Amino acid sequence: MVCNDFSVFSRSWLRLVAIPALFTCAVPAHARGKQPAWPNQLRIEMQRLADVGWQVRMAAGTLCPAQSNGIGASFDYIAAYSPAMRAAVMGATGMGDLPQVAAVAKGSPADIAGLRPGDEIQTIDGRPVSAMIAGSAQPALFADELEMFLSQGVPGSRVALTVRRNGASLALDVQGRGICSTQILYKFESGVDAYADAGRNRVAVTSGMISFNDDDGALAMVVAHELGHIIRLDGKAGSIGERRRMEDRADMIGGALARCAGYDLDRAAEFYRHYNRSDWLRWFRDPSHRSMTNRAERVLLTPEGVACPLTAADLTTLVAAAEAKR
Ligand SMILES: [Zn+2]
Repeated sequence: MVCNDFSVFSRSWLRLVAIPALFTCAVPAHARGKQPAWPNQLRIEMQRLADVGWQVRMAAGTLCPAQSNGIGASFDYIAAYSPAMRAAVMGATGMGDLPQVAAVAKGSPADIAGLRPGDEIQTIDGRPVSAMIAGSAQPALFADELEMFLSQGVPGSRVALTVRRNGASLALDVQGRGICSTQILYKFESGVDAYADAGRNRVAVTSGMISFNDDDGALAMVVAHELGHIIRLDGKAGSIGERRRMEDRADMIGGALARCAGYDLDRAAEFYRHYNRSDWLRWFRDPSHRSMTNRAERVLLTPEGVACPLTAADLTTLVAAAEAKR
């Protein structure tokens, strides 16, 4: 999980604001006072993001900038939380002094190998995780560091894990799988936001965005749109017109990715309709985006000849279609 480390991310593509890095979390307003207890609510959100992120990354195939050895597990680590919150988190999740598996994507290598949420990672290929933590420059971000470390092998290679479960040690052999290398990170924040950082090859989705989208198809559309930006290596646009073209392409690529990931595109388009209903003034505040109704219609379009899995030729077709529909 990620707290407030996304200093390179802008809340708006038109403004690049450097936010000082803060490495501890505050409880998002939406998580306060909810049932189940908020640490468990976060785990439910992380599980949804793990499932959706895995499916969308699989659908992206080789279109991403690189392939990694994916296992499909997300982690949590106590140093990510402020000292005042730690007792509540430990009590609710059973987390101790080792990183804990927060979510395992359905059907992923970690799932097949028997890794389960709640497992604490003791060793990786014989290397003690405690030594890795001791060597970490940012222990608060160790969970994401761990996920990245585990995916660094040659795609398809095995990773030997020792985990602690119910007080006993258990050895698990995970057969990784070649997958789009982009990290899909959970950001502990109440704002309804998602971000793509092509330079660091990662997407972040806020807890507010996940709870806003109670349908997985809609959440898939958000993740797939951001992955569309990564695939295109989009950065800061030089003008509003350029930004809109980037958004149009990301919508078109995202729609195809969400469909190829097995999600109902009509449900995926629901994100835009829902967003439109909840925030009709957004258009005035953010002129780089089209009206949400217009965007909902666009993601439902499937250009002629595009099939799953998507190929580089399909990507060219999608980009051309995004330009043609302007
Ligand atoms: Zn976008």
